[in-house]
Amino acid sequence: TDAYLSRIEKAKALNAFITVTADKAREMAKASDAQLAKGVGGDLEGVPLGIKDLFCTEGTLTTAASHILDGFHPRYESTVTSHLWRDGAVMLGKLNLDEFAMGSSNETSFYGNVINPWRRDGDDTPLTPGGSSGGSSTSVAARLCAAATATDTGGSIRQPASLTNTVGVKPTYGRVSRWGVVAFASSLDQAGPITQDVRDAAIMLKSMAGHDPKDSTCINRPVPDYEAVLGQSLKGLKIGVPKEYRIDGMPEEIEKLWQQGIAWMKDAGCEIVDISLPLTKYALPVYYIVAPAEASSNLARYDGVKFGLRSRDFTDITSMYENTRAEGFGDEVKRRILIGTYVLSAGYYDAYYLRAQKVRKKIFDEFTDAFSKVDLILTPSAPSAAFGLGEKTADPVQMYLNDVFTVTANLAGLPGASVPAGYDKQGLPLGLQLLAKPFDEETMFKGMYALE
Ligand code: GLN
Repeated sequence: TDAYLSRIEKAKALNAFITVTADKAREMAKASDAQLAKGVGGDLEGVPLGIKDLFCTEGTLTTAASHILDGFHPRYESTVTSHLWRDGAVMLGKLNLDEFAMGSSNETSFYGNVINPWRRDGDDTPLTPGGSSGGSSTSVAARLCAAATATDTGGSIRQPASLTNTVGVKPTYGRVSRWGVVAFASSLDQAGPITQDVRDAAIMLKSMAGHDPKDSTCINRPVPDYEAVLGQSLKGLKIGVPKEYRIDGMPEEIEKLWQQGIAWMKDAGCEIVDISLPLTKYALPVYYIVAPAEASSNLARYDGVKFGLRSRDFTDITSMYENTRAEGFGDEVKRRILIGTYVLSAGYYDAYYLRAQKVRKKIFDEFTDAFSKVDLILTPSAPSAAFGLGEKTADPVQMYLNDVFTVTANLAGLPGASVPAGYDKQGLPLGLQLLAKPFDEETMFKGMYALE
């Protein structure tokens, strides 16, 4: 814990942490020492973790990287973090992210962008660590914590993992409780780990997962021992390769990496099956209707009354709401609220929201069909390696294209993971994505271990 705290201090320029809880960390580490001295302790006893600042932590500032949550100290602990503390983990602090997890580059944070520890060969341009879990990916990549929690609504675990050479796992929707996690889009949000390797991810997920009566969408199923399947034979597994993920303009190196991944799976005894997911092209448009719609509803609670910031500048309750939101929300969050309220409004609901929900169901059906023929689906995690800070901020649609390979899993509720698989010509890391059947994280972990 002390070693990580001093690394965090030295790496302040990366801006990975919003809050460092040094005293609490030392206290938790001492308690773990005592447990370990007695020869007892949980699976994560004494393991120092970073927590994405979207998870409520009792008594510790929780910001969602938004100005509107200024001074918010939750009086409750999220289910995920309480599981981690139950198993002995130590909290180093709260990690930076895109505001309310809306973004793909960690540039929408009220607390400033995070910097990826990776650089292009011979080029010192600072790069994005991906988003929204940019604090999580950077802190794991720069070894500022042993592992981190993250959340994934459209790719925010897998894309940052891909851009930082780390492992990221988005479990099946319902595998991990969302209770106490600041909501972005409730039907898509799912928490998971970002770690240095596949084994760590298996151990972390086991702790984070499990039924929680406080989240009615959290499924009551036993949590398997994901670590136990690592290294098991993949012989006979069918790996689907969807041709629609070969998008225009995808760098050649990513195609090469994908072919390399296919070859590794073949070597491991898998059978490769070409599959078709023709609705893939609708995934981004559907996501960017459904996610803002749910966000606009979830964010209605930030009105200056119950949480965080209240504008000082108001004359009546309406101007108090208006000014609090005008001051408290950043541009990307306002953009999402506007899109969301628009697609939900009378007259547009049927044309946008309802239609998006119908296509979402068809995307789910298409995956169900594909998974009757294959056990796993292999694709690239992201359409590019880490890009320069500011490179895509001028054009939100350009930024949204980052999620092209990842949003499908959220729309269909499937588990998905990104595993480091190689480097581009400039020496930047690239990840490969595996998707699995609902609640079949075990097969996904087996595949991840083979790719690693
Ligand atoms: N980049 C996507 C978005 O901006 C996904 C974010 C996420 O998964 N939290 O909505």
